[in-house]
Amino acid sequence: MLSNSSVLEQYLTEAEKEGRLTFRRDCSLASFSSFHIGGNASYVIYPTTADELASLSALCHSISVPNIVIGNGSNLLFSDSGYEGAVILTTQIKDIKIKGNTVKAGCGVSLTHLASEVSESALTGLEFAYGIPGTVGGALYMNAGAYGGEMKDVCVSVKVYDTVNDEIYDIKAEDCAFGYRESIVQSGDKIILGAKFTLSEGNPSEIIEKMNCLMQQRIDKQPLNYPSAGSVFKRYPGYFAGKLIEDAGLKGYTIGGAQVSEKHAGFIINVGNATAADVLALIAHIRSVIKENVGIELQTEVKYIENPADQ
Ligand SMILES: Cc1cc2nc3c(=O)[nH]c(=O)nc-3n(C[C@H](O)[C@H](O)[C@H](O)COP(=O)(O)OP(=O)(O)OC[C@H]3O[C@@H](n4cnc5c(N)ncnc54)[C@H](O)[C@@H]3O)c2cc1C
Repeated sequence: MLSNSSVLEQYLTEAEKEGRLTFRRDCSLASFSSFHIGGNASYVIYPTTADELASLSALCHSISVPNIVIGNGSNLLFSDSGYEGAVILTTQIKDIKIKGNTVKAGCGVSLTHLASEVSESALTGLEFAYGIPGTVGGALYMNAGAYGGEMKDVCVSVKVYDTVNDEIYDIKAEDCAFGYRESIVQSGDKIILGAKFTLSEGNPSEIIEKMNCLMQQRIDKQPLNYPSAGSVFKRYPGYFAGKLIEDAGLKGYTIGGAQVSEKHAGFIINVGNATAADVLALIAHIRSVIKENVGIELQTEVKYIENPADQ
């Protein structure tokens, strides 16, 4: 039983009446993860503004209710036992402002939608993000990238709520410690509320052609007809994880409902009723085979969200 749930309940009920959020109790997390895996969360909450996201997060911290902020759930694996606490979804925080070459976007804006919107203003630089199924917040947390582009290339600053100091402020991109699938936000004490980007003027039809071409490459190479969380492992310097896994003969290797994709060995797909335990067992198997074969320790890109009640 979640402690302090009555304080949270009262807050949520009032905030919902005032239109600041919506929420659900005892809700399956499978539909909030692109893996379609996960037990139930005590609460799933959708704040409608960045300010509300910060207030809700502040409340959870002050009353010690475990909480996690997620976007589209396209780079995570929820536990089979769910999440005893509050899972806060940002997907209703989707404001976009474009002024000249400067773009401001809320943390819940879909990357594909953002890339499309800026293309209509003849702005180039975000084409690489078209087709990454995440949000602005999730993408900055990961410094998501594809086809030679990364979020850090276009980001000017990130607006965060600092849960330790109870403050909202902007962090300049150069102070975000962006690296390969890394950012300062992964230290765990900050929540991304939104971000500012600078793009360049471009030719709308060339921008759209590039986005369509990159999308076609995704369709051709990725198992998009199965639930997954994209590439499970980070690239090891000098090696693509998918190639190492393919060379180890692991394509099609299956544990329960989790399978190494035949189409792209870097993806684990849910071929039917996979559990998080299946996926974790398959990840462990892949890591041990690759370690034994080539002496490389693969690191996961996908985040495992443990149930706080199990810790
Ligand atoms: C088919 C497929 C293709 C993919 N292709 C790519 C690709 O080409 N390149 C790439 O980089 N990734 C790719 N991914 C992975 C994923 O889409 C990206 O990492 C994406 O940026 C994750 O965003 P999200 O909103 O889904 O984050 P989530 O999965 O919801 O969250 C990921 C992490 O970010 C944290 N987080 C999310 N929002 C916030 C916030 N506002 N504040 C603080 N923390 C936050 C969460 O707590 C979690 O730890 C792919 C995934 C799939 C399923």
